[in-house]
Amino acid sequence: AKNKGRATYSFFNNTLKQNAEESSRIEHLLRAALVRNEFELYYQPQIDLKTGNLVGAEALIRWHSSEGMVSPDRFIPIAEKTGLIDPITDWVMTTACTQAKEWQSIIPGIRIAVNLSAVSFRQADFVNKVSEVLEFTQVSPECLELEITETAIMADFKEADRILNRLDELGVNLAIDDFGMGYSSLSYLKRFPVDKLKIDKSFVMKLDQNPDDAAITAAIISMAHAMGTRVLAEGVEEKAHMLFLKERGCEEAQGFYFARPMPAEEFVKWCSQGGT
Ligand code: C2E
Ligand code: CA
Ligand code: CA
Ligand code: CA
Repeated sequence: AKNKGRATYSFFNNTLKQNAEESSRIEHLLRAALVRNEFELYYQPQIDLKTGNLVGAEALIRWHSSEGMVSPDRFIPIAEKTGLIDPITDWVMTTACTQAKEWQSIIPGIRIAVNLSAVSFRQADFVNKVSEVLEFTQVSPECLELEITETAIMADFKEADRILNRLDELGVNLAIDDFGMGYSSLSYLKRFPVDKLKIDKSFVMKLDQNPDDAAITAAIISMAHAMGTRVLAEGVEEKAHMLFLKERGCEEAQGFYFARPMPAEEFVKWCSQGGT
């Protein structure tokens, strides 16, 4: 048993070492990435289920590093630990708002959703930054949506409440991302000025295979509606899932069934072809 324990220990140790090495390599590359202009925003359509119309797009960051494409799931956590997330958030906000402004003439009223790291969201001057970006890009606040994860809000809901209220006063839309993954209580959520809940894709993707997921999804939709909040389902990959959501009054959906995240030019092309 002792030998086995030791073997497990050294294996674990090696894995940790590899991860630490990889993290510091990514950190090193990440420092140069902004200067080298290696980031790009992709846009994924958000569809109104009742009308089938495009109503918005979620901006998703892509990093074309010198070592190839790096997924945001890998580099965002490192950026958060090293403080690099703040300049990245600034870049994302400015780029997304510039794009939103530009697209108003082609797709009037289109709303761009931006993902916020909990770290940036809690920066002292974050709300001022948002209003600066809106002013700088001349985009109207209702064309910007900020996505904050449920866990980020619940980490300190009093502070989150204060920040969310200030953002609400600016007139931007607020969405709770990855909803269903945390442990929020309805009574807390009710007091936040949020416009939308985004049901996490882990529930949506197996809607027809897993009765529990279907029940949770249906419950989130009716709970959100009872609170007067709109619902968007992410990770909609199949027609059957789209129909399930539509039948239950889910307002919006996003997923590979409609379209994958696309570079800006491709997004415009997709729109001009009527969303196909
Ligand atoms: P998220 O905010 O939950 O974004 C949804 C993820 O699901 C995206 O992955 C998207 O490409 C993917 N997705 C969309 N539709 C489908 C579908 O039908 N099926 C499946 N299987 N996946 C789908 P992506 O782009 O790799 O982003 C991963 C995560 O990285 C995001 O999760 C978000 O937490 C974070 N992220 C992305 N962009 C940014 C950013 O600009 N700032 C920050 N702070 N985080 C970001
Ligand atoms: Ca999101
Ligand atoms: Ca609002
Ligand atoms: Ca999610």
